Order: sequence, then structure tokens, then C-alpha cells
Amino acid sequence: MNENVQNSFLVPPVGHPATRSNRDSAGQAARPASIENSLLAAIPRKEYRRLLAGLEPVMLTFGEILYEPGDTIRHVYFPNKSVVSLLTLADGHLALEVGLIGRDGMVGIPLVLGHTVSSVRALVQGTGMAMRMAATQFQKEFRLSAPLQRELYRYIHTLMSQISQTAACNRFHVVEMRLARWLLMTHDRVKSDHFRMTHEFLAHMLGVRRVGVTKAAHALQKQKLISYSRGDITILDRDGLVAAACECYEVVKDMHDGAQTEAAVPARALAAVT
Ligand SMILES: [Zn+2]
Repeated sequence: MNENVQNSFLVPPVGHPATRSNRDSAGQAARPASIENSLLAAIPRKEYRRLLAGLEPVMLTFGEILYEPGDTIRHVYFPNKSVVSLLTLADGHLALEVGLIGRDGMVGIPLVLGHTVSSVRALVQGTGMAMRMAATQFQKEFRLSAPLQRELYRYIHTLMSQISQTAACNRFHVVEMRLARWLLMTHDRVKSDHFRMTHEFLAHMLGVRRVGVTKAAHALQKQKLISYSRGDITILDRDGLVAAACECYEVVKDMHDGAQTEAAVPARALAAVT
């Protein structure tokens, strides 16, 4: 295992090359396929090249808090291999995950809606690279770029679906199903079968006691869907995990995939003329 990620919660994909700075491709015709964040990849290359001037690669590390509720948002982040949890707080100390953002989106959505203050805690749960832009620069680019607006509005719709489905999921579905869903959502974002996580951290994410996570993880392990040893999780049977998860996983994924399919034709058409 890469020593640099030993302390990370999630292990980046094995054998995947280190994240290159997108600045590397600034002078060339940056092909969408080389852009790891799918929201940025969907933007026509001419627009993307302009955005690139305001983007900088940053390493996000496990446990880092990007914003707390009430914090002014100073940067937006487009994760590449990193994963960021949105947590809502209760009673000042209880935290529950309500959203998960990876290469599919952007952290700092309130800025799109004209708000500069975060209402949630944004916590890095998977170490990895992201592209970062200063809030003032982002607001300027957002006003100028119709493709950026289009992609962000589309993403907000899928994020809202995820958040509202998660509210129902947390209330109605048992821990084992929710754990399976969480593993699948994470798998989709990091593109790796291997994660590192602790029971304690996962209990916070799912809003349950540690013993509940232990029981659920054992149940999934017994069905040979995952292996779990000393904080190392490996997904052994993804299809089986989908069957074990509550329907919330597929509901949100279908919404996300549908939005991407809708976007594909106009995005390709725009790219062809730029
Ligand atoms: Zn559910």
C-alpha cells in the first residue's frame, strides 16, 4: 500500500497513476477524458481552459474540515479522488452524514445559490486530490460561464435527491442496508474495491452506535459481500452488495445517471463547436 495514504480513511484506486495537476494540460487541448472530476469534465474545453487559470490542485486529507456550519466559504473544491462528507449537526455535538461528494460534484454549493456561508460541516473522509478555486473567483466564473451554470444546476438537483433520500433512509432503513448503501456510494466515488475505515468513524457517518456498525459489518461479511479486517474493507461482491442495500442506493444512482445521460448530447454538441 502506498505509504502516503496509510492514514487515509479511503485508499485511492490501486495501480492508478498519481493525480496529475490539471495545469499540466492547460497548454494542450485538454481532453475531457483526462479530467478526473466529472463535473469539470462535462464543461466544453474552451470554457474549461479559462476555468483552469483559477483552479489549483490541493491534497485533501482524512479528517480535515473544510467548513463548519456558519463558516464563510472561502474556496470551492472539485474532488478528484478525494471524498467529502456533508454532516448536519444536532445538539452541538451529534453529527450525521446527509451527503457525500466525490469526483461527481463540487463542495461549496451555497455559493451557486448566492449564499457565502455553509450550513453544514464539510469533512474530508477520503484522502486525495481536488481542484480548488477561491470563492470570489468562482462567483465571477459562475456568472460568466453558461456551461458551468448548467452543470452545477444539474449537480444540485442530484445532490438534493441524495440528501432527501438520505433523510428517509436514516429514518426507515436498518443499519445493515444503510451500511451496504454507504459502501456502494463510496465505491462509486473512489473507484476502488479497497477502503480503510474505522467502526467509530462509520458510526458517526451512519448516526448509530459502534456496536450497530460491528453487527452490520459482520452480517455483510458472513454473506461474503465484503471482507473486513483491522479497518481494511474490501468489496468482494458488488452485485450482492447492491441486493443487500436498501433501494435508496439505486433511486439516487438512477437520478444521477439519468441527469448525466441528459447532459451527454448537448455537452458533446457544445464541445464539437468549441
Ligand atoms: Zn435507505
